[in-house]
Amino acid sequence: GDPMERPSRTRVLVVANQKGGVGKTTTTVNIAAGLAQLGQRVLVIDLDPQGNASTALSVDHHRGTPSTYDVLVDGVPLEEVIAPAGSVPGLFVVPATIDLAGAEIELVSVVARESRLRKALAAHPGIDTGLEVGHRVSEDRFDFVIIDCPPSLGLLTLNALVAGAEMLIPIQAEYYALEGLGQLLETVDMVKAHLNQALVVSTILITMYDGRTKLAAGVADEVRGHFGSKVLRTNIPRSVRVSEAPSYGQSVMTYDPGSSGALSYLEAARELALQGKRPRPPRPPGPRQM
Ligand code: ADP
Ligand code: MG
Repeated sequence: GDPMERPSRTRVLVVANQKGGVGKTTTTVNIAAGLAQLGQRVLVIDLDPQGNASTALSVDHHRGTPSTYDVLVDGVPLEEVIAPAGSVPGLFVVPATIDLAGAEIELVSVVARESRLRKALAAHPGIDTGLEVGHRVSEDRFDFVIIDCPPSLGLLTLNALVAGAEMLIPIQAEYYALEGLGQLLETVDMVKAHLNQALVVSTILITMYDGRTKLAAGVADEVRGHFGSKVLRTNIPRSVRVSEAPSYGQSVMTYDPGSSGALSYLEAARELALQGKRPRPPRPPGPRQM
C-alpha cells in the first residue's frame, strides 16, 4: 500500500481477550505487518510465554534470548531486547521465551509489579506516548507499539493494560463470542479507575468470519450493536492462508499478498491508522496539468 501519514505520538495498542484462540496473535502479527507496509514504524511486544508472535515474525525466542522476561523481571532496557522482524522493514519485535511463564509468579514480590512494562516503554527514547513529561524522543520514533497478550487476565495482561492507552479486542465470529467479554470489560474499568486513566477500548476486530453462515453474520451484527463504531468495518475472513503463514515465519501479507486474509488485514490496518483522523478535504481546484 501507499505510505500513510504517521501519528504525532506513539500509539500503544493492547491486543487482549482472555479467551484463547480468538485471533489475538494472528491479529497482532498481521496488523503490525500491515501497518509497517503502510510506512509506519512498528514494535510488537510478545507477552505470551508461548511466543507465537515471535515465531510468526521469525525472531529467535529460545530460552536465554533477550526477551520480555528480562524487561519485566530484571528491568533490562527495551533497546537491549528489540530484534528486527524477519524481512519486513520498519517492523521490530521484543520476543517472548518460555521463561515468561514464570514471570507471573516472580513478579508478585516485585515493587510496582503491574507497571513494569509501562516503565520500560517510558524509558525508551523511540516511544513517545505523550504521557510522560519531559520525555526525550529520538528521530526513529515508533509509530505503533502492539502488545500481544496471553489468554488470561493475570499480571502479564495487567502490565499491558497499564502500559497502553488503546485496547484492541479481537472477537471470533462464533456462538460464544460475547461470553467472557463482561469480565474483560470489568478488568478494563478496574485498571482505568486505579492504574491507567488513559485506557480505552478503542477497537474491536471481528476475526475468523465466515460470510456464508447466518451464525457469523448474526454474531457480527450483535457485536456491532454492542460496540458501534469501535468495530472496524473490515471483518477478517476465515482463511487457510492466514493459519499457514506463521509456520513459514511470515505474516500473511508476505506469505500470500493477494489472499483475502492479507487484503483484509491490510485494510484493517489502514482503518486503524486512520482512526481519529478527519477525512482529508478534497484537493482544491486549480491548474493541474501533466
Ligand atoms: P489467540 O492468540 O487469541 O490464542 P491465534 O491468533 O493464535 O489466537 O489463533 C488461533 C488459531 O486460529 C491459530 O491456529 C490461527 O492460525 C487460527 N486463525 C486465526 N485467525 C484465522 C483466520 N482468519 N483464518 C483461519 N485461521 C485463523
Ligand atoms: Mg496468542
